[in-house]
Amino acid sequence: MDLNHAQQTEKDCMIGLYPPIRFPMVIARGEGCRVWDTEGHEYLDLLSGGRAVNILGHCHPKVVEAICIQAGVLMHTSNDFYTEPALELAKLLHDLSDGMRAFFCNSGAEANEAAIKLARKHAIMHGDESKVGIVTTFNSFHGRTFASLSATGQPKYQKGFGPMLPGFTHVPYNDLSAMEAAVSDTTAAVILEPIQGESGVYPATQEYLKGVEALCRTHNALLVLDEIQTGMGRTGTFFAYEQYGVTPDVVTLAKGIAGGVPMGAMLAREPAASSLAFPDHATTFGGSALPAAAAVATIKTIIEDGLLDYAKTMGEYLVQKLCALQQSQPLIKEIRGRGLMVGVDLTQPVAPAVKKTCCERGVLLLTVGDSILRLLPAMSVTREQIDTGITVIEETLAAV
Ligand SMILES: *Cc1c(COP(=O)(O)O)cnc(C)c1O
Repeated sequence: MDLNHAQQTEKDCMIGLYPPIRFPMVIARGEGCRVWDTEGHEYLDLLSGGRAVNILGHCHPKVVEAICIQAGVLMHTSNDFYTEPALELAKLLHDLSDGMRAFFCNSGAEANEAAIKLARKHAIMHGDESKVGIVTTFNSFHGRTFASLSATGQPKYQKGFGPMLPGFTHVPYNDLSAMEAAVSDTTAAVILEPIQGESGVYPATQEYLKGVEALCRTHNALLVLDEIQTGMGRTGTFFAYEQYGVTPDVVTLAKGIAGGVPMGAMLAREPAASSLAFPDHATTFGGSALPAAAAVATIKTIIEDGLLDYAKTMGEYLVQKLCALQQSQPLIKEIRGRGLMVGVDLTQPVAPAVKKTCCERGVLLLTVGDSILRLLPAMSVTREQIDTGITVIEETLAAV
C-alpha cells in the first residue's frame, strides 16, 4: 500500500485523530533500530517504533521467539485461571522492585487509572472520606482516560471533555514549595513522572523527588511514580526512581514493558498493595498469556544482555555527541535527559522542519511543540547508529 492509498483509507474509514503527527510513509517492516517503508526506503528509528515502546528495537529475536511459542501454546485466558507467563512476570517485577506486587492491564492510561483507584481506596481505608486529593504537575502526561486525563496537567488534552474528575490539583514541576502548599492531610496521592517525557524531557531534581517523598510520608499520602516512559531500563536503571534513592508506594509501567506488545502494569508495595482486593478492580485482558510471555522475554533480555549499563553508556555517548555538536551549532540551546531519553531545546521554532528534513534523510525522531527535539532510541542502539543519527541531525540543523 502506498502513502496516497493509506491517507485515503484513513480519511474514509478511520477517525481522524492522528494525521497531523503521521510521518509520510507506510511502515512495512522493522529490525532493531531500522524500519523500512512500503516503497523500500530504510530509516534509522530514534523513537523506538513510536514513543519508547520497542525498547529492544523492532522484532528482537528473543521477543519474537517467545511470542511465537506462546501463540502456539496458549494466547489468552481470563483471570479465572492461573497461567505461567503472568506469574513469571509478576515474580520478575517483584524482584526488580524490591518486593512490589503487580496488577496487569493493557496500556499506560489503564495502569494510572488503577493507581488512582488504589490511592482513593487506600485513603478511605486509612484516613477519612475527605482524603481524596490527587496532586500532579503541569506539563505532565498520564494518559487519556478520564482519571488519567484529569491527572494530566495539560489543558490542551482536556479541552472539550469537561468536567474533569474532581479532586485533582496541578502544581509546577520541580517546585517543592508549590508542592508543599498543595499537599495536605486530605491528599490521597502525588503522581509524578521522574522525568516528564511527553512535554519535552524534563528530569526531576534529586532534592525535588526526595522532598516530595518526605511530604507524602508526613501527610500519609501515596507517592505514585509514572514510569510508563522512564521504566524498563531506558534511563540506565530498570526504574528511573532507583537513581533518586526514593521508595515509591506505587509505580506504573507500560510502553516498553512487553517489547512492542500492548501491556501495562501497576506495581504497589505494602501497605498500599493490600488496599485493593477482589472485586475492586479487574480487566479482561490483564496479564494475558501472550503479552506476559513477551514481557518476560523482554525483561530477561534486558537483564541477561546487560542492557541497563549499555543504555546508560549509549545515553552518555549520545549526549556527549550532542554537546559536541552544540559547540558549533548555535541552534542548540539545551540538552536534557537520562540514559536513552533525551530532549534537545532549539533556539528557533524549527523543530517540525528538522523532523521533516531528518525523515527525508532517513532518520526518524520526535518533536515537542516548535522547538524541542526528542530522542528515544531503543536500548539496543549501536554507537554507529548514534553517529549516523547525529551526522544527519548536524547536516539538517545546518540546512534549516
Ligand atoms: C505514554 C504515557 C502514558 C499513557 O500511556 P498509554 O499507553 O498511551 O495510555 C502515561 N504516562 C506516561 C508518562 C506516558 O509516557
